[in-house]
Amino acid sequence: MGKTRILILGGTTEARLLAEQLAEHEGVDVLLSLAGRTKEPLPQGAPVRVGGFGGSAGLADFLKSEGIEMMVDATHPFARQISANAADAAKVADIPFFALGRQAWQPVVGDQWHEVADVAAALTALGPTPRRIFLAIGRQEAHHADRFPQHFYLVRSVDAVDPPLQAPDVVSILDRGPFDLPGEVRLLKQHLIDCIIAKNSGGSATYAKIEAARLLGIPVLMIARGAATTVPTVSSLEAALDRIDHFVSGAAKRGV
Ligand code: NAP
Repeated sequence: MGKTRILILGGTTEARLLAEQLAEHEGVDVLLSLAGRTKEPLPQGAPVRVGGFGGSAGLADFLKSEGIEMMVDATHPFARQISANAADAAKVADIPFFALGRQAWQPVVGDQWHEVADVAAALTALGPTPRRIFLAIGRQEAHHADRFPQHFYLVRSVDAVDPPLQAPDVVSILDRGPFDLPGEVRLLKQHLIDCIIAKNSGGSATYAKIEAARLLGIPVLMIARGAATTVPTVSSLEAALDRIDHFVSGAAKRGV
């Protein structure tokens, strides 16, 4: 009986863990896809391909030519383009498809969140008075800060922001989560941060900054997620594995 060939769209901890588990699955031939944004990704524990597909049509072609029988979108909640492409491509290739997502964070008592639509809206909302900002949004959109040079920015990313920001008062830290509460409290105090700009990514790896903000009474400009997807979505690794097991055992019964 042949193995079921599954493509995982990754770039997240969840995708890495899912691919790692599927690499051990006797009925699955897994392939993990990374965009190639991170210079030195962590070891993935599964076969990996790197780089874009060339839009949804390119991805649909890839699914067909590689004989992919199921696809899982385990990309970051803010990676909207690839998720839209994947939904279209799965239809065209006519293969089962679901997303492994993360529940959005919800504010709790003590949080001072102000929801904004995107990074530019967050920076605009700060107003003209100089502030000390922890820009915790990764490196791809950090350049928006250059249009608001009155503020101090603490920028943390896995790889350096390239080209570097032009804003005059910037401290860059290269680091990769997960982050813990004592470390985040220390960081916010050390740089006298008075506002955080964050994406509502969900998950635990980057939540400590939100807890630290609550503890220290620091407001958070929280970038909201886009409209909810119609793609079937699970929010845990176990649920994703169950769904895959179900499909793989069905395929075995059907003799494919
Ligand atoms: P995006 O805007 O949704 O996608 C832009 C293009 O990048 C896509 O059209 C696709 O190119 C390519 N791409 C994205 N993810 C890919 C994947 N897993 N495999 C192959 N190609 C991929 O994506 P993004 O926001 O730049 O994110 C890029 C990657 O970083 C994603 O894998 C995501 O999971 C990860 N990530 C993103 C964020 C974030 O805040 N956006 C945070 C953490 C991690 P083609 O059209 O040529 O196929």
